[in-house]
Amino acid sequence: MIRRAEPISILGAGLTGLLLAQQLGQHGHRVRIYESSSRQKPQAAAHVAAAMLAPLAESAISHHRITQMGFYSMARWEEIIASLSHPVFFQKTGTLILWHPQDQSESKRFCSQLNETLKEDPSIAPYQKLDRAGIEKLEPSVSSKLLEGLYLPDEGQLDNRQLLKALEEEVIQQGHEISWDTPKDLTEFADSEWVFDCRGIGAKSSWTEVRGVRGEVIRLFAPEVSLSRPVRLLHPKYPIYIAPKEDHQFVIGATEIESEDLSPMSVRSSMELMSAAFTVDSGFAEARIVESSVGLRPTLTDHDPGIRQIGRCHFQLNGLYRHGFLIAPAVIDAAIDWANKGEPVLANHHHIRTYTHHASVSQ
Ligand SMILES: Cc1cc2nc3c(=O)[nH]c(=O)nc-3n(C[C@H](O)[C@H](O)[C@H](O)COP(=O)(O)OP(=O)(O)OC[C@H]3O[C@@H](n4cnc5c(N)ncnc54)[C@H](O)[C@@H]3O)c2cc1C
Repeated sequence: MIRRAEPISILGAGLTGLLLAQQLGQHGHRVRIYESSSRQKPQAAAHVAAAMLAPLAESAISHHRITQMGFYSMARWEEIIASLSHPVFFQKTGTLILWHPQDQSESKRFCSQLNETLKEDPSIAPYQKLDRAGIEKLEPSVSSKLLEGLYLPDEGQLDNRQLLKALEEEVIQQGHEISWDTPKDLTEFADSEWVFDCRGIGAKSSWTEVRGVRGEVIRLFAPEVSLSRPVRLLHPKYPIYIAPKEDHQFVIGATEIESEDLSPMSVRSSMELMSAAFTVDSGFAEARIVESSVGLRPTLTDHDPGIRQIGRCHFQLNGLYRHGFLIAPAVIDAAIDWANKGEPVLANHHHIRTYTHHASVSQ
C-alpha cells in the first residue's frame, strides 16, 4: 500500500505518466515526474496521436479485452475530463465507417468481426447500416461516390494536445513537480522508493520486449470540410481515419509500419493519406497542411498492454500500442490498485497482462 507521505517518482510525461500523476494527486499522494524531452519539443507518442476512442471499431483488429477496457475508459474519461480545471475537447457522437463500392469485401470482413464482438458482449450498442441518404443525414459533405456505410453510436474522440496540457496544469496545481530534459532509468532509484515507469518506447532498455511501431499523421486546416465526427475509410491497402478537431483542424492517419524509424513522413505515406481523405470529402483539396508528424507506438509482443512489477515498489506500464487513449484510464486504475493492494485485482478483472520480475531490471 502506498502511504500518503511516501514520495512517488514517475518516469515519462506522456499519456500514462501525466494521467497517473493526476490520479495519484487526486488520492493525496506526492508525485515527481521526470521527462527526457523538453517542454517545447514533446517526444511522446501521445502528442502525435489522433486520440480516437473507438472500442467497437478497434475490435475488428484487437482482442475483446481491449474493447471492454475501451468502454470502461470512455466512462472514466468523462469523469476525469469533467474534473480538470482546463477544458478538453471530448466528443461522443459516434464513428462513421465508409468504403468504396469496389471494396464491399472489406466491409463484409469488418462487419463479421464486429458481429463476433457483439455476440460476445450483447450490452454493446450495435452498429447501424447506412444507405446514401443515411450517410448524408449524418455527414452531408461526404463524397456522393460513397454509397454505403455504418454508424457506431457509442464511440468518440478527444483532443490529445489539450488533454496533455490540461493534465500537466492539473499536476502542477496539485503541487507536484515536473522535471523536463531529465532522462531517468529505473536503476537510478532505490528498491524501497515508489517508481512508476511510463516511458513508452523509452523503457526499451529495461523491458526488452518493448518495441516501437511507426505511425504517421497529417494535420490539416480545412475550413471547407464540415465533417463533425471521426470517419474511417475501409480499404484493402490504405485504411485511413479522419478525426475532426476544433477550429477546422483535421488529423488524418495513420500509417502503421513495423519500424522504429523516427525520420520525417515519406512522400508515399503523405500521398496515400491525403488522397484517401480527398476521396471522402473533396473539400480537403483546398486544405492547408499544418503539420506532418511521426510517432512510435509503444508495443509489447502480443499488442496487448502490460503492467510489470519489479521488486515491491517499482511498476512498469507499457504496450498501449495504438490504444493509449482508448484504454489508459483502465490501465492506470489497475496499476494504482495493484500498488495499493499488493496484488493485481483490477488488472486481472480487465485481463491486463501482468508480469512480475524480482531480479535485475535489465534482464
Ligand atoms: C500516429 C499515432 C496515432 C495514434 N492514434 C491513437 C488513437 O487514435 N487512439 C488511441 O487510443 N491511441 C492512439 N495512439 C497511441 C497512443 O498515442 C499511445 O498508445 C500512447 O501515447 C502511449 O502512452 P505512453 O505514456 O506509454 O507513451 P508516450 O505517450 O510515448 O509517453 C512516454 C514519455 O516518456 C518519455 N521518456 C522516454 N524515455 C524517457 C526517460 N529515459 N526518462 C524520462 N522520460 C522518458 C517520452 O519522452 C514521452 O514523453 C496513436 C499513436 C501514434 C504514434
